[in-house]
Amino acid sequence: MAIRLRVTAFAALLTITTAFSTGVLAQSDPGGSGSILFQNVRIFDGSGSELSAPSNVLVSGNLIERISAEAIAAEAGTTVIDGGGRTLMPGLIDAHWHTMLIRPTPAESMGDVGYNNITAADEATDTLMRGFTTVRDVGGPAFGLKRAIDEGIVDGPRIYPSGAMITITSGHGDFRQLSELPRTIGGHMSRMEQVGGSMLADSPDEVRLRVREQLMQGASQIKLTAGGGVSSPFSPVDVTTFTLEELRAAVEAAENWGTYVSAHAFSDMAIRRSIEAGVKVIEHGFLMSEETAQLIAEKDIWLSAQPLPEDLRLGFPVGSVQREGADAVWPGIERTYEFAKKYNIKTAWGTDVLFSQALAQQQGAILASLVRWYTPAEALAMATGTNAELLQLSGPRNPYPGKLGVVQEGALADLLLVDGDPLENIDLIADPVNFVMIMKDGDIYKDTLAE
Ligand SMILES: [Zn+2]
Repeated sequence: MAIRLRVTAFAALLTITTAFSTGVLAQSDPGGSGSILFQNVRIFDGSGSELSAPSNVLVSGNLIERISAEAIAAEAGTTVIDGGGRTLMPGLIDAHWHTMLIRPTPAESMGDVGYNNITAADEATDTLMRGFTTVRDVGGPAFGLKRAIDEGIVDGPRIYPSGAMITITSGHGDFRQLSELPRTIGGHMSRMEQVGGSMLADSPDEVRLRVREQLMQGASQIKLTAGGGVSSPFSPVDVTTFTLEELRAAVEAAENWGTYVSAHAFSDMAIRRSIEAGVKVIEHGFLMSEETAQLIAEKDIWLSAQPLPEDLRLGFPVGSVQREGADAVWPGIERTYEFAKKYNIKTAWGTDVLFSQALAQQQGAILASLVRWYTPAEALAMATGTNAELLQLSGPRNPYPGKLGVVQEGALADLLLVDGDPLENIDLIADPVNFVMIMKDGDIYKDTLAE
């Protein structure tokens, strides 16, 4: 990993004395001196439909301290950044990400845990350098990497981890071979369970146990698969997996910890049963009927949707189970976004990139593709202010209390300085080269203006 420390004698000394050095370019410390002052920026605040008039933004410590159209005096020790009229916006948030499942193949993801963590760390750095300062991880053993990022050992986004996806025998996330059957409850764990990728649960009691294990490890929310999935070998997309009692057990265990369950569900039955059990967020939902869309809106349930690229569908070999599933699901993407708009469903945005570093590099482009249905401002608000609202559902399990996804006084300083106006040209978001500065938690990780 490249070391990007701004070279001063002190920094050089610091590099020598620490075993691992991160790419923090500049830190602002609390109390005024060492603050960072952005001058002459136009602000996208994470919810509005236009940029502010030229403004100044003072970051102190990890917070946005002041925003003003008037000049803000730079105290001694303040780093002043001339924004040159560029756009200052909140760091991007991906609400459906799998931190540990980008680089490996499916088989490798159940392989060498040490190797997988190191490649995932490298991908986490790339994620941050694409402008994504927060991800909601909806399945995978991300607890260790999250901790290393939070401790400053590795550069990466804030991670809201779910831990292992919880699934049933044959469900989405059960990647065993038929030769591994049968399973005995309380017996040997499969390899994917040993690495913490997904956990099998076939009764309300087993669901409770598996949910509580994720919470014990620091899960900020629980992810379970209430219906079949595209990438699973033995779980057709029309299948409903958990019983109502099993779903209720998960919801109760999560709510006892003050947090919520997010359910992977395509079909009407999987969605409706999840809602009946108290699930707060439906992932995907692409096979929902219009009546179910109305129910989601009425019950104030979140829809966590992804504008999955057509290339992904075409990537599955013709005739494979996966291609069959994708062919069933893809036409629903368009329809679901139309329902979401028509019924004003609370809609989060995510990518759900799996097993493809190349596709992960399209993370910003996948966001920009939302302009099929939304204005650029609406798309960016979804990936900032709205996604941050979804993250608040974690309640006391929120690992990063504070305001995310907005440029407001008192909010956490996760900021991007964009060369241009992304509300005019959303494609600027597709290419990270347009982010001339990336800040997370008050620390600068990229600064091409200083070069
Ligand atoms: Zn997913």
